[in-house]
Amino acid sequence: MLNGMRDHQAGRAELRGDCERCFGLCCVALPFSASADFAVDKAAGTPCRNLREDHRCGIHARLRQKGFTGCTVYDCFGAGQQVSQITFGGQDWRTGPPERARRMFEVFPVVRQLHELLWYLTEALALPAARPVHAELREALEKTEELTAGTPEELAGLDVAAHRQEVNVLLLRTSELARAGTKGRRKDRRGADLMGARLKGADLRGASLRGAYLIAADLTGADLRGADLIGADLRDADLTDADLTGAFFLTQPQLNAARGSAGTRLPGSVTRPGHWTAQA
Ligand code: SF4
Repeated sequence: MLNGMRDHQAGRAELRGDCERCFGLCCVALPFSASADFAVDKAAGTPCRNLREDHRCGIHARLRQKGFTGCTVYDCFGAGQQVSQITFGGQDWRTGPPERARRMFEVFPVVRQLHELLWYLTEALALPAARPVHAELREALEKTEELTAGTPEELAGLDVAAHRQEVNVLLLRTSELARAGTKGRRKDRRGADLMGARLKGADLRGASLRGAYLIAADLTGADLRGADLIGADLRDADLTDADLTGAFFLTQPQLNAARGSAGTRLPGSVTRPGHWTAQA
């Protein structure tokens, strides 16, 4: 399904969750603590109380009102359908032996991490400035795809952190190449604590915001063109009228967790969250 020489857009389409082909894995496999994002505590491997027998969410249309905002921003990068339909061949965890269900819940977060890497690698390959490392990126993409296609046992035993580390080295080089095209001083705010920061109208063109904590930051009207946003925490950050054209390594879950407007300019890799339009 995710074969080597992928078409970039087709590849990206496969790297988005398709709940129709999934057995509600994110609603069972993952643990949640009661917080502003999730109204109740839930242990890993325990079905959410709102999950119906048909694997649909019983409160889908009212998630935000009911205190489950985190569910509206989450995306599995297509790991749900991969694990449900490929790794476990379409066998529902509800009907099989408990050991198989346990294995499925164990494997799901591993495949989600691999699919997230596939998302970044696919995006990196679409960046013309990253051409000097395209061969290595393609190799990493193929290796990640191979790992994703592993058996449940292989996936459960995978050192996914080590693989992430290997890929990250390449993504860093990609970032440097991509941001080198931005004129002027490119800010390095990697891992910076910018929670609640007043960055209204800030010039962040070509900045590295890798892993930056931008929770509730005011980024209204900020210029983020060509910025590296990998792993940046954008929860409740205000991107109203900000310009993110050409920003890269931005994922849909990151964007979904932020606020924005019809005037926010986005890179082509992500779509405008529905709740922004409702606010606009
Ligand atoms: S509230 Fe709905 S979407 Fe969220 S975990 Fe429960 S069943 Fe899934």
